[in-house]
Amino acid sequence: MFAKPTVVNNVETFACVPHILTNGADWFKGFGTEKSPGTKMFCLSGDVERPGNYEVPFGTPARDLIEGFAGGVKDGKKLKAFTPGGASSTQFFGPDKLDTNMDWESVTAAGSLLGTGAIIVFADDVCMVRAALRYTRFYAHESCGKCTPCREGTYWMVNTLERFENGQGREEDIVIMNDVAGNIIGRSFCALGDFSIAPVTSTTKLFADEYRQHIAKGGCPFDR
Ligand code: SF4
Repeated sequence: MFAKPTVVNNVETFACVPHILTNGADWFKGFGTEKSPGTKMFCLSGDVERPGNYEVPFGTPARDLIEGFAGGVKDGKKLKAFTPGGASSTQFFGPDKLDTNMDWESVTAAGSLLGTGAIIVFADDVCMVRAALRYTRFYAHESCGKCTPCREGTYWMVNTLERFENGQGREEDIVIMNDVAGNIIGRSFCALGDFSIAPVTSTTKLFADEYRQHIAKGGCPFDR
């Protein structure tokens, strides 16, 4: 900032420092992977039995976090999806990605981002169109309005997702929403614009059937 080099650290980083000073860098690098050394705080929330923050070595499989530390999907339901790194810019993962190692390189290779390490879990009775709508509403609300792609794009993605929920969605709207998303990413001033598209792009890819169920039923086929 102000043409001066600036280091931005967070509490998670500072919490590691005393242990590294006490035990040495090699001790810390003994945890995790070569490219992602050390430990990471993962925040498990959503449909899990034991939501909370869990510190584990980088590279711990998502399955160990969701099914182990967090006690599995709530009420014995099945897993439908999870975010590996929070809502911002991270593509949803399906159950086939449960054995992904949670480190920077593995999550990226699997098609998403580790982001903040916020793992949000969705049970199989959750409507992913509604989930995308809730996320996108947040971004539309937070958009400051400075850039047209972010301001208009988030508005139109919300508008279209609402149409699906209200039974007015059309097959071509899936393509149109992705076109809108493609015109937001890389064309907005700050990261919020880029972050806003993942709920639409990943749910239309992973859960296209659910969008079509909304069209066929003329509304949302899920209770939540
Ligand atoms: S991308 Fe950032 S600066 Fe641009 S409208 Fe969105 S929130 Fe505002």
